[in-house]
Amino acid sequence: MEMVVSCPECDENLIIPVDAEEEEIIDCENCGVEIEIVSLDPLEIRIFEEEEK
Ligand SMILES: [Zn+2]
Repeated sequence: MEMVVSCPECDENLIIPVDAEEEEIIDCENCGVEIEIVSLDPLEIRIFEEEEK
């Protein structure tokens, strides 16, 4: 079953693919932000930020 979350940036609906895995990164097609899947059950996401070097 597909899961839908709201983009933290723009509130666009993002579809989490059925075969998504934890730590996978998905892109918001609306604003381009990268979202990391922190946990699948329960579903938890956060904005993915590359660590500063
Ligand atoms: Zn967005």
